[in-house]
Amino acid sequence: VNNFWDPIINIGNFYNSLVSGTVYLERVFEMMDVSPEITDKEDAFEMPPVKGEVIFQNVEFGYEEGQTIFEDLSFHVKPGETIALVGPTGAGKSTITNLISRFYDIRKGAILVDGINIQDVTIKSLRNQIGVMLQDTFIFTGTIMDNIRYGNLEATEEEVIEAASIVRAHDFIKDLPRGYETRVQERGSTLSAGQRQLISFARTLLSDPKVLILDEATSSIDTQTEILLQEGLDRLLEGRTAFVVAHRLATIRNSDRIFYIGDRKILEEGSHDELMRQGGNYYNLYKTQSDLLKGL
Ligand code: ADP
Repeated sequence: VNNFWDPIINIGNFYNSLVSGTVYLERVFEMMDVSPEITDKEDAFEMPPVKGEVIFQNVEFGYEEGQTIFEDLSFHVKPGETIALVGPTGAGKSTITNLISRFYDIRKGAILVDGINIQDVTIKSLRNQIGVMLQDTFIFTGTIMDNIRYGNLEATEEEVIEAASIVRAHDFIKDLPRGYETRVQERGSTLSAGQRQLISFARTLLSDPKVLILDEATSSIDTQTEILLQEGLDRLLEGRTAFVVAHRLATIRNSDRIFYIGDRKILEEGSHDELMRQGGNYYNLYKTQSDLLKGL
């Protein structure tokens, strides 16, 4: 499976951390030192509370001079829609997500969030409202309560527990000998991969971004955990616009729309069933992978 739904080479893989909420984003952006040339315009204003509409208008972009990743990329995502980004490695899936958070500026066209050009608002106010969950989950040494609360440092214990319940993390946490006060280690094995992901879902829910970018982890987990994670993820994505660099068939199927990225454009776009009927790239991808993906 991993060969095709390949982990992308990007900041996510470098830092292997989950990022969500203001504190994290700022810390990680500092660490990454990505594109220091991205700055606020002189008359930049605060992004008002976001509903979640995302529009790409004839976007041209390349990381370097002479390199063009997208020549003329356009799409319209409605508030609350979940978009699965699929396609071969290097096609530009994570580039799309990088542009939404304005890690990089585009050459031509516009990216609008709720109708506002993201270059017109302060970077901080934009990024504060975009949740980013990168591959693998970031757990720091401390209690589970602390780890979830990091999504919103002002959250009460009740709010933490509520968030954990919504994403289906509460059941395993309450069964731990010390419950929410259980201490976990950054690199420890107290928690399974699935449990770490559930904690990250709860943390992200607590930070409550209306636009969420998710680079789905590829780690293999058992079917039962898979189902639990799928439920948790569905809950987390409810009422948010989400772009998921998707590796799991269940996520792709549950998304509202799939963008199959290739040849520097959206080659195919539609639901799983629609794309299967088209019998194109997505169909072939699915057919090639269906044996491996069986049971997901
Ligand atoms: P995907 O997520 O679909 O695997 P990416 O968006 O990561 O694809 O990459 C799209 C293209 O952009 C690839 O050719 C990749 O090599 C290139 N690329 C990605 N990040 C950078 C970067 N920081 N600098 C230069 N080129 C990059």
